[in-house]
Amino acid sequence: MLLHCKSRVPFYRDLICEDTARRRPLDALAELTLANKAKIRANYLGFISSDLIRRRSDRELMQDLLNDRSNFANDTEVRLSNGDSIFLEKTSGSTGIPLKIVKSREERIIAGKSLWRLRKALDSSVSPMSLFPFEHAPLGFSFPYDLSDYSPENLRNILAEIGRRGYTWLHGHPQGIEWWAEAVLDDPSMQGLVRFSYIESNGSKLSPESRSLIQRAFACPVIDHYGCMEVWTVAYECRLQRLHVNEELILAEILGERGETISEPGRMGRLFITSLGSFAMPFLRYDLGDWVEYTGSNCDCGNRSPTIQVVPGRPNERIAGREDLFGRDVFGKVTRFLYGAYAIQYSQIRVVQTRPDTFQVYVSDFAGDRAEFTARFLEVSRALLSSDRIRIEMRFVEPNAPIFSDHPYDLFICRCNDPEDPLARSLKEGAGSR
Ligand SMILES: [Zn+2]
Repeated sequence: MLLHCKSRVPFYRDLICEDTARRRPLDALAELTLANKAKIRANYLGFISSDLIRRRSDRELMQDLLNDRSNFANDTEVRLSNGDSIFLEKTSGSTGIPLKIVKSREERIIAGKSLWRLRKALDSSVSPMSLFPFEHAPLGFSFPYDLSDYSPENLRNILAEIGRRGYTWLHGHPQGIEWWAEAVLDDPSMQGLVRFSYIESNGSKLSPESRSLIQRAFACPVIDHYGCMEVWTVAYECRLQRLHVNEELILAEILGERGETISEPGRMGRLFITSLGSFAMPFLRYDLGDWVEYTGSNCDCGNRSPTIQVVPGRPNERIAGREDLFGRDVFGKVTRFLYGAYAIQYSQIRVVQTRPDTFQVYVSDFAGDRAEFTARFLEVSRALLSSDRIRIEMRFVEPNAPIFSDHPYDLFICRCNDPEDPLARSLKEGAGSR
């Protein structure tokens, strides 16, 4: 991978040293500058293998598709002038602007097979035919009931149909599955409709509370899949529910706040990954934006790959003045509670702490009574933060404000004390545009 980047990836051409071929790959890698989304977004073509865009027309096409203003559906196939296809993907844009990713067909097949190998290690009988995809339905998947309708009557129909079709795995976003689980626990007569061997949680951090709720409702283990659009499966849980780094696809490094490598269990740091199979658009020492704790590499399941635990927020996402509270956690609970109690509809909520006792809440696509919503949000926030002095400043953002909502009901927190944070910037622009 290093030699490929040295010869074909402009960003790395001068950064990777000349004698790399004669050195131990890990030593050469350890000297390399760190990469992140912002560096790639500022110079997409610099991160793409030059053999894909040797011709001017291909280069121009990619330049058009990869800039921040272009928009395309995920998994868009692009035909290059030599007849080869490449695929464009994009992240959910949780940090403000989606990152566009280029993969070859082969790279997607390899990443997909890696995930299926991990699933099969848990259950040799699992196949695409036995996994119900929930909101990640592939093209051509047909299902007679609306999966975005969470009413108990509709859920009963959904589960009955899943049971009839004989699915044994459920795969989906933990929030959606948690809502299903809550409805099933409210009406246990639904429990007999389906029989899952495993439920795979994707797309967001799985909290211990969600896991136990879902396991209680469906009487099967929940397996956490920690993935990202850049390389797909970063880590996957074993039968003992410990999260193992997927060493087939990536090398993981955990770096502390001063950039030091963390190798002793129990310490937390930022996760950087080096993809072993992304040649079209390589990711070397790339900051995934998540904080993890290294939990050792001697799991009783027999897998010797390192285990990690994704922590609920970065140190700077702690609520200021509240040592153990993370904004994403607290306001995630507020929105879940409000949704459960009042079936409130919106596409996204973002919270910024502006003062120790003040939170600005940006809500997009809200349909409902704004005054009531604001009052309830305040009431529940005060209860969860155990303080009557908390102030909530509600901002109802126009649908065209620069806030991305690929993941409905996801919650993102940023602190306004970092004006360079792309999310903080997009929030400011969003507020200014009204
Ligand atoms: Zn294990």
